[in-house]
Amino acid sequence: MKRFLFYYFLTFFILLILLSKAFSWGFFAHKNINRLAVFTLPADLAGFYKKHIDYITNQAVAPDKRRYIVKEEGARHFIDLDYYLDTLQLKLPIPWKEMDSLIGEEAQLKHGILPWHLNLMKIRLTAAFKNKNGNEILKLSADIGHYIGDAHVPLHTCSNYNGQYTNQHGIHGLWESRIPEINFSNYDFWVGPAEYINKPTDAFWRMVFESHALVDSVLILEKQLSQTFPSDQKYSFEQRGSVMAKVYSKEYSLKYDQMLKGQVEDRMRSAVKMVGSIWYSCWIDAGKPCLDEVNFYSIPEEKDQNNLAVPDHEDCHGH
Ligand SMILES: [Zn+2]
Repeated sequence: MKRFLFYYFLTFFILLILLSKAFSWGFFAHKNINRLAVFTLPADLAGFYKKHIDYITNQAVAPDKRRYIVKEEGARHFIDLDYYLDTLQLKLPIPWKEMDSLIGEEAQLKHGILPWHLNLMKIRLTAAFKNKNGNEILKLSADIGHYIGDAHVPLHTCSNYNGQYTNQHGIHGLWESRIPEINFSNYDFWVGPAEYINKPTDAFWRMVFESHALVDSVLILEKQLSQTFPSDQKYSFEQRGSVMAKVYSKEYSLKYDQMLKGQVEDRMRSAVKMVGSIWYSCWIDAGKPCLDEVNFYSIPEEKDQNNLAVPDHEDCHGH
């Protein structure tokens, strides 16, 4: 019996290790957007962020992990603009209070609240700077970097978020995980210095509208490619840690990226610049506090959340 229990737990732990490795690679783009944004900052801010760059980088994926603990979290990562614009016939943007009184919590959870949540995060990060609260500054900076990253992904702005209505299941991960992972070293991330954003609310809405305008090309081009590309070469198997995973083949992914004419690179570049610019704007709006004087009340880690196994980011869209 003891031997049986031993093997039972051994198998369980091996499985756990395999799962955590298999599920961690999809966050590549988020981590790099946060990391690269640090290098857009002016000297007054850069020192502080560089000192904590590992935290800012690793915590870029914390909001996705939080989805498994906090019910409301999923809706903060996307907005089904087709629902708000076409089904509800709303003229966006509208203030949070107006939207909140128009549709109930269930619809909000189902169709997403990303730009409204970004607004709240901007207010919170500005307050954290004002209070010189080091933990909050780092945590909220990492979080807002994640949400800004999501706002730049076209498929985070529509209900057909993983091609499920057009028989293109998997396209979400192809666009936002697989392509950046393969082509990252060829992208140009010189995006210039962070800039002060005068009207952050407008900027957040602009991000999702720009992303939404690209949805058609994202879907149509992949459909075209899948109809012309040899179907036996569309997928391949790659080693992911200790497991073999079925992935879109390199050839297929590169061809798609080429057809998109730099769209993935453009959106990533724009996200990097915007993350740096929003951090910088919060700091300015807080009265440019001296960051040598910030206080830390504990080690800035979300340890309880870091140990959770998390599915590939294509499942991040909270439907
Ligand atoms: Zn997300």
